[in-house]
Amino acid sequence: AAKAAGRDAYRFFVPDMLASAMQRKQLEDGVRSGLAAADFELFYQPKIRLADGSLCGCEALLRWRHAQWGWVSPVEFIRSAEESGQIVALGRWVLAEAVRQAGAWLASGLDPGTIAINVSAIELRHPAFADHIERHIADARLDPATLQLELTESAVMEDMDKSAGILNRLKGLGLSLAIDDFGTGYSSLSYLADLPIDVLKIDRSFVHGIDHAQPRRQALLHAVIALAGSLRLPTVAEGVETGLEAGFLSLAGCAQGQGFYYGHALSADAFERTFLSQPAQA
Ligand code: C2E
Ligand code: MG
Ligand code: MG
Ligand code: MG
Repeated sequence: AAKAAGRDAYRFFVPDMLASAMQRKQLEDGVRSGLAAADFELFYQPKIRLADGSLCGCEALLRWRHAQWGWVSPVEFIRSAEESGQIVALGRWVLAEAVRQAGAWLASGLDPGTIAINVSAIELRHPAFADHIERHIADARLDPATLQLELTESAVMEDMDKSAGILNRLKGLGLSLAIDDFGTGYSSLSYLADLPIDVLKIDRSFVHGIDHAQPRRQALLHAVIALAGSLRLPTVAEGVETGLEAGFLSLAGCAQGQGFYYGHALSADAFERTFLSQPAQA
């Protein structure tokens, strides 16, 4: 039986391996030509103040418009771009595009609030990362406070001493730093005391269904918000999908929400029409 299972496993294993190797090659070539052909686009998802429902900023989320595959989610290609090193070029494109869009909105009198971009560990550790950001925002004459970097726990914890140097340098440029998907990384929390973090984004796994979750899950969310509060870090709840979740989070003391309840990530034009075009308050 073991032998048969082994043979079966083998039979399925080989084509899968080939398929994924081919797919990886296709993804790699695709990212290269996608960058050349401008097939990438940033979509923007609103971040909302829970206290009054006002817009406080947005997260730029990368989208790839592929000729045959249609819209490809970053979940499909970021990993391969990291493995091939293309993430550095891709990340530079994301930074340039977010800065350009921020400048365009501000120039037309629209206030998008803080614009966050996602940065992967490999980008963060690239020796020229901070220099590149510094030069780029200076050339664009953008107020650095407009820009926020979202970093995962695993990205900042990889090499704490090195991280501290990099993050302090970035903070010194005037950007803000958020921990993305907080609570899903490894369990050491000591980095929160040592690194210059501004915001914790609570992963959506803590948020989903929280209004009718078991008391222990609700207690856990309260504890996360209290932990952040005692470090004077505001929290953003990710993956808010219902008004009841938003209400629960607001009562629990969470500062901001992001999720389908407020809006999906939208093209820059659609985001502008939906969230930035209200006439200014008199
Ligand atoms: P993330 O930074 O945690 O982004 C949040 C993801 O959750 C986005 O998926 C967003 O569309 C999705 N989301 C937002 N609201 C809800 C909700 O209410 N319910 C549910 N179920 N999902 C929601 P997306 O755009 O597919 O991005 C996936 C991940 O890819 C991001 O997770 C981020 O880690 C990475 N990523 C996206 N853009 C970039 C980028 O420009 N550079 C890098 N390095 N990574 C990126
Ligand atoms: Mg993010
Ligand atoms: Mg996240
Ligand atoms: Mg998440």
